[in-house]
Amino acid sequence: MVKDNLMEVEKKVQAACERAGRNRSDVLLIAVSKTKPVSMIREVMETGTIDFGENKVQEMCSKMEEITEPLHWHLIGTLQRNKVKYIVDKAYLIHSVDSIRLAEEIQKEAVKKNVAKVPVLIEVNMAEEDTKAGIHAEETEKMVLEIAKLPNLQIRGLMTIAPFVDDPEENRVHFRAMRELRDKLAAMDIPGVEMKELSMGMTNDFEVAIEEGATMVRVGTAIFGERNYNI
Ligand SMILES: *Cc1c(COP(=O)(O)O)cnc(C)c1O
Repeated sequence: MVKDNLMEVEKKVQAACERAGRNRSDVLLIAVSKTKPVSMIREVMETGTIDFGENKVQEMCSKMEEITEPLHWHLIGTLQRNKVKYIVDKAYLIHSVDSIRLAEEIQKEAVKKNVAKVPVLIEVNMAEEDTKAGIHAEETEKMVLEIAKLPNLQIRGLMTIAPFVDDPEENRVHFRAMRELRDKLAAMDIPGVEMKELSMGMTNDFEVAIEEGATMVRVGTAIFGERNYNI
């Protein structure tokens, strides 16, 4: 069943790529497995998927211990500074860097653990929602320039969590603004910064995000089903 869901999502990803004149290989589908059991992750792995997203450090670490196959574990949730040490050498990509202090902690732990480059994305709160993590768009350039000075971090691009809306078209404006911000920063050619990735789009709006240039979409519910936080 999970496999069928993944196939459905895959078809939609392909269709969105076609509509936008993009190659399927330019968009990474990350299966967001938070709150879901290892057995379901294994089912998705059978399709050849290796990219999984988790939003809690502890949950990610325990799943990594259980599944020893070399997967790409993406940390997509808010990262507390005191948890950095547990994942700095394990996460394939940290999507949620939103402060200099967090970046400095990653730098410190990377040195301790001998990680030459920790790949990160800068999280932008494009819609400026009070409840969401991430920095405001106008702060992004300054933060990228600061973090670029930290030798053991590598900025790979930007991430956003768009508002929860009934009509995904409402988020198009935010996705487009993300792409424009990414392009502007990329044009600055900041040494050591690879401003390529755009992690945006979830179950509700990943097709619009792809049409607007997402290079990574983070899809949970459409693959694994609704989450139950009460267990
Ligand atoms: C949970 C989560 C997702 C996936 O959300 P769905 O709506 O279930 O697809 C994507 N990104 C982040 C940061 C999340 O926390």
